Amino acid sequence: MSPISSNAPKRRLLATVLGAALALSGLVAAPATATEFAFPLVPAALAISPSDVVVTGGSATDRDKVRTYLKKYAKNTSILSVKIGSYDHWGTTTFYLNGDNTLSGQCSIEISKKSNHNAFASTARLKYVMAHEVFHCQQAFAYQSDTTWTQLQKIMNKKFGGSGTRGIDNAADCGAIVQDAAYSGAPYKKKCTAAQKKAAKKVINGQQF
Ligand SMILES: [Zn+2]
Repeated sequence: MSPISSNAPKRRLLATVLGAALALSGLVAAPATATEFAFPLVPAALAISPSDVVVTGGSATDRDKVRTYLKKYAKNTSILSVKIGSYDHWGTTTFYLNGDNTLSGQCSIEISKKSNHNAFASTARLKYVMAHEVFHCQQAFAYQSDTTWTQLQKIMNKKFGGSGTRGIDNAADCGAIVQDAAYSGAPYKKKCTAAQKKAAKKVINGQQF
């Protein structure tokens, strides 16, 4: 659950990792310089129904568990895929960027089954990891098109504390808490203030705070 960045065709990636990283894509928006043209902020990403998210890797049972939590948590998201594999963090979310460096709204998630980083070790852990990673996708969705990765860090650090990408992760733990997915082993935040919970709820509802 700490951030990663990488490049992919047509897409730039930033990744946050739970238990490690984040990735970032896209289209270059025309600069709004001429008054005769309007450049409304059209959402770059359409919400993808949780039941349409592509889940790969792991066993059929693992994939079913992941789908169950996607149905429970993944509203207001545009999740391109969830991959179950052998990773060094319980979960990782990749944030895709538009060509102008703003968040595209899209994301992809990796969930680990590696023995020493096993998100599936208990129901409570998997529930938390899924709620935490899905919240990152809700951050990407709510702040798409008008917020850069750097700006997102600033916004989240201000409300949830921390520096660098820590606020983004602190917020995701508050998101898990308000969705009844609190976990005693949560690495970032075990308690959130009323104001932080309110802000997390807004993001879950697809809104900026
Ligand atoms: Zn995280």
